[in-house]
Amino acid sequence: QQDLYAVYGASGCGRGIMPLARQQLALAGVPASRLVFVDDAPGPALVNGQRLMTYAQFLSEPAAGRYAVLAIASGTVREALAQRCAADGVQPWTVTAGNVVQMDDVQLGAGAVLSPFVTLTSNVRIGKHFHANLYSYVEHDCVVGDFVTFAPRVHCNGNVVVEDHAYIGTGAILKQGQPGKPLVIGRGAVVGMGAVVTKSVAPGATVVGNPARLMG
Ligand code: UDP
Repeated sequence: QQDLYAVYGASGCGRGIMPLARQQLALAGVPASRLVFVDDAPGPALVNGQRLMTYAQFLSEPAAGRYAVLAIASGTVREALAQRCAADGVQPWTVTAGNVVQMDDVQLGAGAVLSPFVTLTSNVRIGKHFHANLYSYVEHDCVVGDFVTFAPRVHCNGNVVVEDHAYIGTGAILKQGQPGKPLVIGRGAVVGMGAVVTKSVAPGATVVGNPARLMG
């Protein structure tokens, strides 16, 4: 019996990840029929040529092992689904575009999604279920937590710490920190699109603009 692979989430994020997943499996010699969308909301039988099923159907389909990449931009939702999958023996699956660049000593946690043109440079630590959308980069000596989400084209410069569940909007620039004195994006913080972040951001805070300031 063969393994079964899921892209969990069949909306915008999932439809962007599916072609990467398909290509990755093709390179590994796994037929595309072993790759499905899973979504908790009802939908058509096929999405972009790939079967769509409920989570219950995914669990009941005959398979040697089950793997899921959580293709939902919300880190909070990803955490809930990660717990559900772990409870049911569904393994986290990392999906990486073919042109991603990873340099020396990159530690990438389980379940990551690295979109096309992402670069992870040297001596980088990244936690579980990270999403790095199109053209984002993570520079040297950064430490990224669990369930962190980078929208497209995030510029995360060197010696930055991004705590769990932070969300960094499209095109944001995070100024580089110093060795032993990183710039820190606190847990659950939100950085608005295009923000230029020059100072650390408190946990839960939302910052916008150039230079980035607290919203509200
Ligand atoms: N979804 C799900 N289970 C959940 C939460 C969300 O299957 O617990 C699905 C939801 O039905 C939708 C997708 O995930 O199809 C999320 O889509 P949305 O457009 O909200 O976000 P994005 O695709 O941009 O992450």
